Amino acid sequence: MSVPILEVVDLHAAYGRIEVLRGVDLSVPKGAVMALLGPNGAGKSTLIQVISGQKKPTSGDIHLAGVHVQRQAPEALARVGLCTVPEGRSVFPNLTVEENLRLMSYAGVPAAAVLDTAFGYFPKLHQRRGQLAGTLSGGEQQMLAMSRALASDPALLLLDELSMGLAPLIVEELYDTVAQIAASGVSILCIEQFARTALRVSDYAAVMSGGRIVASGEPAEVLNTMSDVILGGAA
Ligand code: ATP
Repeated sequence: MSVPILEVVDLHAAYGRIEVLRGVDLSVPKGAVMALLGPNGAGKSTLIQVISGQKKPTSGDIHLAGVHVQRQAPEALARVGLCTVPEGRSVFPNLTVEENLRLMSYAGVPAAAVLDTAFGYFPKLHQRRGQLAGTLSGGEQQMLAMSRALASDPALLLLDELSMGLAPLIVEELYDTVAQIAASGVSILCIEQFARTALRVSDYAAVMSGGRIVASGEPAEVLNTMSDVILGGAA
């Protein structure tokens, strides 16, 4: 078996004295899409923050394609192939779509390639390239945030709640694009409240509860055995 793109071993993290990651073990195979599901407060966002270098763990190990990356800054992680689309998006509202994208070329990726990738996946952004990002719809802002993350040609993309505040139809469209991105060879770990939508494009699913992974496996199997935990009502 090849080395996983992401391997998390016995990861712990806390806010002050409250431990919210309590020994997380997670393995994402290279080229796979994995959905990370679970109830509010389970620790999913905290896990993404620790993996992406925004929050320091108290202990444990993180390997990216076999390389130990724990405690590296987000910029250093981007250089070794890990990029995040954070919850709540991250676009510069007072810059145009094109300016937002061109800013990503700082890391040595030619601006033309950044624009090509963005407009290839999201033709709507091409139509709106002269528009201020702050005036885009929520779905379009999410497209821009995803395009910015794709600019550095990541090996692993972390997606935190793509669906946040968006209409179900837009969420479905975004996940269709997630599937296309994965088909181009990018591995993806996504946190999602719309469990069924995320599972539709996922190869694997993991369920988090109380700061630990409590189930993992094929989407259908996880949905079957953990539906009460991951659906929790609507999704
Ligand atoms: P949600 O879907 O609600 O974001 P989650 O699974 O992503 O849930 P986290 O956001 O990681 O869960 O939160 C895990 C726990 O840590 C929760 O009890 C939350 O209240 C707490 N928590 C999160 N952020 C902070 C913070 N900045 N300071 C203190 N506690 C926090």
